Amino acid sequence: MSCVFCRIATRQAPATIVYEDERAVAFRDIAPQAPVHILIIPREHITGPLDVSEDREALIGHLVAVAAKVAQQEGLAADGYRLVLNQGRNGGQSVFHLHVHLLGGRRMTWPPG
Ligand code: AMP
Repeated sequence: MSCVFCRIATRQAPATIVYEDERAVAFRDIAPQAPVHILIIPREHITGPLDVSEDREALIGHLVAVAAKVAQQEGLAADGYRLVLNQGRNGGQSVFHLHVHLLGGRRMTWPPG
């Protein structure tokens, strides 16, 4: 299995997992860009946001719900947080397994870089 996030989801590669269920896994980003930086991924290998077909809408909603649960766990609910999905080169995507970035613990800027 060549995809690093597939290997994390099956515990064949190391990661600090903070939440998992039958459809999703959440783990700490290896190069955090904020005091809290967690990635939420589907267990299913989906290459990115462009690969999200209508039959996967429920799964994507689940990832946002997991992000909310993890944000509560991490103490981000009161001050808020940012969710980011990157697609392709212009989006800044570097790992081609769909992931939602959960960023918090500092004030985010807008527009993003
Ligand atoms: P993106 O640029 O949106 O594709 O984000 C990929 C993210 O995955 C980056 O923030 C990386 O720091 C993170 N990342 C890459 N490899 C690992 C890993 N083995 N464990 C945890 N996070 C990783």
